[in-house]
Amino acid sequence: MLEPTIGLEIHIQLQTRSKMFCSCKNSYGDPPNTNICPVCLGHPGTLPVLNWEAVKLATKLALALNCKVNMESYFARKNYFYPDLPKGYQITQYKNPLAEDGFIELRNGKKIRIERLHIEEDSGKSIHTEDGTLIDFNRCGVPLAEIVTKPDISSPEEALFFLQFLRKIAVYTGVSDADMEKGNMRCDANLSLKQEGSKKMGTKTEVKNLNSFKFLSKALKYEIQRQKKILEQGGKIHLETRGFDSKKGVTFLMRSKEEAHDYRYFPEPDLPPLKLADSFIQEIKNSMPELHWQKEERFMREFGLDRKTAEVLCAEKEIGNFFEETVKFYGKPKELANWTKTEVLELWNQGLKIRPESLGTLLKIVDDGKLSRLKAKEVLEEMASSGKSPEIIMEERELSQISDEKKLRVTVEEIIKENPDKVEKYRKGKKGLMGFFIGEAMKRTEGRANPKLLNKILGEALKNGE
Ligand code: ZN
Ligand code: MN
Repeated sequence: MLEPTIGLEIHIQLQTRSKMFCSCKNSYGDPPNTNICPVCLGHPGTLPVLNWEAVKLATKLALALNCKVNMESYFARKNYFYPDLPKGYQITQYKNPLAEDGFIELRNGKKIRIERLHIEEDSGKSIHTEDGTLIDFNRCGVPLAEIVTKPDISSPEEALFFLQFLRKIAVYTGVSDADMEKGNMRCDANLSLKQEGSKKMGTKTEVKNLNSFKFLSKALKYEIQRQKKILEQGGKIHLETRGFDSKKGVTFLMRSKEEAHDYRYFPEPDLPPLKLADSFIQEIKNSMPELHWQKEERFMREFGLDRKTAEVLCAEKEIGNFFEETVKFYGKPKELANWTKTEVLELWNQGLKIRPESLGTLLKIVDDGKLSRLKAKEVLEEMASSGKSPEIIMEERELSQISDEKKLRVTVEEIIKENPDKVEKYRKGKKGLMGFFIGEAMKRTEGRANPKLLNKILGEALKNGE
């Protein structure tokens, strides 16, 4: 049996105000080529000045990933020619990176080790059009953390878990939005197959630009099958870089080993060694917020939630915070969790937000029997889109449950009068017809009849004359 060995390389943009070596704005989505200067355009005679905020954020990420932070690390030049790299080299770290030897732990206790975490600058962005290629240098010089794992991952599912874990850590620490859609987090994967149980690794291929969680898992699954087929037919895997065609769902050859770049790394002469003080590390440790997995465990402990629910609530930092805020207004965490992980999350994914106190009020109204759950969902949707309070929406829509006995009795009498045959059958013993009467009453009250009261009144009215 052949089993896969997978390693990941992930680039995460650091959420600094300015770029890594100049004071240009680090901002996504601005008009092309508006956040640029001679430094990030690589004009001769300019010198880089290190942005300490980038070092801080990268160190925070490294510590959250259990890495050992090097008190002294170095910058290096990685030389290659590409239109979106105006200097002709990238400032990165090669030997002696910022941090090494980290790990994350899977649910089953297995560890995925992190080989290194280093900082480097991003390149510009090429935009391919029908008429040619355009270049936007706004991204040029934006700080990145690059994280390289050991080949400890043994399935596409584990790879996905790792990437999602990393995204949550980046968001919880405030280091990055880690939004793959915006390219704030990008992933490459190395994959090889070996005989199960064997120590001897197979030849690997690298798959580039897996820019969504879905693509990562699709590309790995495809690449496993592709390599398997070749090896089973007695063929050989070649060391090569491949791309992923997301439309066709296949990987394709980008360049072979012979075409591989020689980056001619050498120490960056324009930057001194990066030296960190103990107090700097201590300060970052002290400012470390609660991480997603810690929040999950606390939610299970404090609110009695099951693991799955806690995971769903904590997957997005904002949702977890929202839940916790709302518990203060509505003290039934399990009931609240059910609403949050379904209705609230669905609205949130559409960009709609609800105030904690409004949801708390709404759920109390439901508990008091003044509004049915079904109607409560409608109210919730309007709360999210209009920002109105539940009471106002209920008043405007005349949604409150009818608990007025006189009103319901009139409706019930109408139904009995209009359906003499069914009433007779019911009175002769066909009790299943109760469902018909309830349905009819709900229709006539637009679902607003208080079910308990309706049952009582119907029961009494039908009994008369039995
Ligand atoms: Zn600049
Ligand atoms: Mn890199």
